Amino acid sequence: MKPDFSKGLLPAVIVDDLSGDVLMVAYMDETAYQKTMETGQTWFYSRSRQELWHKGATSGNYQSVQSVFLDCDRDTLLVRVNPQGPACHTGKRSCFFYEVTGEGIKEVQKEKGKKNIFDQVITEIQNRKAFRVENSYTNYLFDKGIDKIGKKVIEEAGEVVIAAKNNNKPEVINEVSDLLYHSLVLLAEQDVPLDAVKKELDRRTNKKGNSKGDRPEIENW
Ligand code: AMP
Ligand code: ZN
Ligand code: ZN
Ligand code: ZN
Repeated sequence: MKPDFSKGLLPAVIVDDLSGDVLMVAYMDETAYQKTMETGQTWFYSRSRQELWHKGATSGNYQSVQSVFLDCDRDTLLVRVNPQGPACHTGKRSCFFYEVTGEGIKEVQKEKGKKNIFDQVITEIQNRKAFRVENSYTNYLFDKGIDKIGKKVIEEAGEVVIAAKNNNKPEVINEVSDLLYHSLVLLAEQDVPLDAVKKELDRRTNKKGNSKGDRPEIENW
């Protein structure tokens, strides 16, 4: 099986492997596709310049290919990448920063797309660490340091277990939220990026690298 180039160029959807965000859409001809598979970086066919284009060749923002998928009728490519810089030539992380609404088209700020809630929370925590905010509980925790933060993590873990033993689902939700928040504060205090944890979870879940037999299987569906 191979891609169907019989009707011409194939659109390639470029997705950030870590976040799942769509970064850009460009076109591949057969040469670009082969180059992509051979080099492990993305190559496209530029329709405006009518030439083969190695993404990142001038900007340095290469895209390292993690996996490649074909759609049902093999005429669209989906490429999951680790971007080495912004995908867009405007310097934005993603090309999709114009939001089309009932009122018209406007540029969305901070190209945030829809960050998952963990990324939103860790970003806010890191902002607090960098800039002091009046009456901020997060600032209070950073002021007190690791002893206080560590104590809170242990305390919240205990509360999670108590709520669970009481079969109190709303309390379980509350306390797990407390525990996750304080764990994120601890990560920020230790200068450990959340992405490092995500990568480790990804490695364990998708059996990358070291493969122990006890890893959880994710069903295909
Ligand atoms: P680069 O491949 O990042 O070195 O950029 C080289 C040139 O390719 C830029 O000057 C743009 O003309 C074009 N280009 C880069 N990224 C994009 C993109 N995401 N969408 C459309 N054109 C792009
Ligand atoms: Zn198709
Ligand atoms: Zn763009
Ligand atoms: Zn609590």
